[in-house]
Amino acid sequence: MKIGIIGGGPAGVCAGIVASRQGEVTLIEKNEKIGKKLYITGKGRCNLTNNKDISEFFDYVVRNPEFLYSAFYSFSNQALQDFIPVPFKVERGDRVFPKSDKSSDIISALEKMYLDQGGKLIKNTKVLEISQEEKFLVKTEKETYTFDRVILATGGKSYPTTGSTGDGYTFAKALGHTIVPLKGALVPILCKDSFIKDLEGLTLKHVSLRALGGQKLDFFGDLLFTREGISGPLALTMSSYINRWNKVQLEIDLKPSLDEQTLDKALLRDFSQAQNKEIQTVLKGRLPHKLVDIFLDKLELSPHKKVNEITKEEGRKILQKMKHFPLSYQGLDKLERGIITSGGVDIHEIDPSTMESKIRPGLYFCGEMLDLDALTGGYNLQIAFSTGYLAGENASK
Ligand SMILES: Cc1cc2nc3c(=O)[nH]c(=O)nc-3n(C[C@H](O)[C@H](O)[C@H](O)COP(=O)(O)OP(=O)(O)OC[C@H]3O[C@@H](n4cnc5c(N)ncnc54)[C@H](O)[C@@H]3O)c2cc1C
Repeated sequence: MKIGIIGGGPAGVCAGIVASRQGEVTLIEKNEKIGKKLYITGKGRCNLTNNKDISEFFDYVVRNPEFLYSAFYSFSNQALQDFIPVPFKVERGDRVFPKSDKSSDIISALEKMYLDQGGKLIKNTKVLEISQEEKFLVKTEKETYTFDRVILATGGKSYPTTGSTGDGYTFAKALGHTIVPLKGALVPILCKDSFIKDLEGLTLKHVSLRALGGQKLDFFGDLLFTREGISGPLALTMSSYINRWNKVQLEIDLKPSLDEQTLDKALLRDFSQAQNKEIQTVLKGRLPHKLVDIFLDKLELSPHKKVNEITKEEGRKILQKMKHFPLSYQGLDKLERGIITSGGVDIHEIDPSTMESKIRPGLYFCGEMLDLDALTGGYNLQIAFSTGYLAGENASK
């Protein structure tokens, strides 16, 4: 059985290792080396997977979690750690990293496993077209290869300098598959507010980011202001859920641990202890200094106004603004800047227990090119490896 794999990311290489146990495998990668995106994961440390029970993984998958039952249970997070022969460690949030903190160790181990198994690796070769007569014809810049089965593992369309330029969507479409429109996910959020650039670099810790639109969402964590909007864990998570909403309203709860009544009492106490001080001085005890002027400007209150001159109505507005600080949503940053691509090959056209196309037998899919995406924490790489494992195992049967 001659199997061709297109794309040398984690999904393709994992599929190659498994398939070469039984079949004759050729992996074609357009870059000079495999795993260019894998190299930059986890800021170069590679958050390979997560140590939570595999049954909890579905809660962290944003699109089509139910498609992943077979994949996650056939090749779980524990199986993945046993599969790659490097030592691992577990960090905050159950995130799993190689002990060496080097993603390159993962890449070297995968490449060695693949080559030791007898897999053929063709680098520096871009696939241009895939067609099928009796067999699959894979046309590259250099020559055309013939395979009995093909596994597509070309990744998404974000961070294109790593090689993931979305070529696979064109191949899949030409072979009869539907492509669900692509959107950026785990991507910064752009805001229209003129004050944003003044907050660049400010991190808000332990706040809630709320989105109203398609539904009401509320996430708790840390948020970072950028020159054009917001980023950091909270904003990235939110982006994955709102990327298909038509209308989005955003607000920050600056004091999520205090309900309105408790915050009201706390503010009254602040005010009564600082009657002759300026309002800006009092608020600096509750909010980051960089935010106070902007906060008061939004309320049309002078920072120099004395606390004993603040009216009851103004006090109420201060409280409301702390619980509902609005941001004007402009849109999401470019798809290319997303950690992951949402959308892709429609999973309804793929058998979830084998990764084989229901439309074109002999064609298999795995990894980010599928319409699957998850939150940060190692879940996206687990998706790539689990689907790659199933594709490799079944394509070589
Ligand atoms: C900055 C960043 C950090 C990340 N950190 C993490 C993390 O810590 N943990 C985590 O779980 N996930 C992380 N991810 C997501 C993770 O990298 C992806 O989910 C994963 O790489 C997808 O694997 P893949 O094999 O499907 O695709 P890719 O890794 O994109 O690999 C696809 C391969 O196909 C090749 N290719 C494409 N077209 C062709 C063609 N025409 N011919 C030949 N070859 C082709 C490409 O060159 C590429 O090598 C991160 C992503 C980014 C951008």
